[in-house]
Amino acid sequence: DVMLSLENVTKAYNKGKPAEVVVLRGATLSVARGEVVALVAPSGAGKSTLLHIAGLLDTADSGEMRLDGTDLAGLSDRARTQARRRDVGFIYQFHHLLPEFTALENIILPQLANGIPRKDAEARARLLLDQVGVGPRADHRPAALSGGEQQRIAFCRALANGPRLLLADEPTGNLDPGTSDQVFGALMTLVRETGLSALIATHNMELAARMDRLVRLEAGRVIL
Ligand code: ADP
Ligand code: ADP
Repeated sequence: DVMLSLENVTKAYNKGKPAEVVVLRGATLSVARGEVVALVAPSGAGKSTLLHIAGLLDTADSGEMRLDGTDLAGLSDRARTQARRRDVGFIYQFHHLLPEFTALENIILPQLANGIPRKDAEARARLLLDQVGVGPRADHRPAALSGGEQQRIAFCRALANGPRLLLADEPTGNLDPGTSDQVFGALMTLVRETGLSALIATHNMELAARMDRLVRLEAGRVIL
């Protein structure tokens, strides 16, 4: 049962210009429902490009893509945006929380934007915060929280609207090794409890070993 599949995806920047960079040369990859896949790549290999294409933030030049059975290549711009907001959660190395809002509000806001009633949005936000162990920090603004706490809250925000697919780019990359280990554990608990499918880019082989499967991106192709 496949959640995400990319087949023979190609992507170049500055196409047809002297500065053309071919990044993906026929990348093929799939993530099963409920599976957590580690994406390991040397710097500059095109990991961010691949995640952006998989997350409907960027388009491939050619190839096929399906998300939970839906052919993504055929979607209009509007349908792509809708699918991205509804079905995909993103986590980056830096938390990108809104500084003027509390932890709780940062998780409520994307739900309000998605039409969820305030009361339900707050209940879900509190549940998510509890699941990653930061329930007691709900009313603090990001600046008053540790790096580990900020990142746990970013995980909750990514899951706020109940996506089908989670895409993460070095989710614990800016934390010290001990904190990174704990925070990654919290992320895995959250992913497992919600049955989410995930593609998580990391340079950390210990973290990669805790996922279900590892794929490597090299020379524009995915190697198992
Ligand atoms: P990674 O995340 O693996 O470090 P990226 O996907 O960010 O790799 O980038 C892959 C290659 O594409 C790099 O050589 C990078 O310089 C180039 N690149 C990325 N984005 C752009 C862009 N918008 N315009 C031109 N080149 C880009
Ligand atoms: P973590 O394990 O998440 O890295 P730390 O050891 O950095 O946590 O922080 C321990 C405690 O100190 C946490 O409860 C955190 O909220 C609090 N704390 C960390 N930095 C700040 C800060 N700048 N202002 C207020 N409280 C902070």
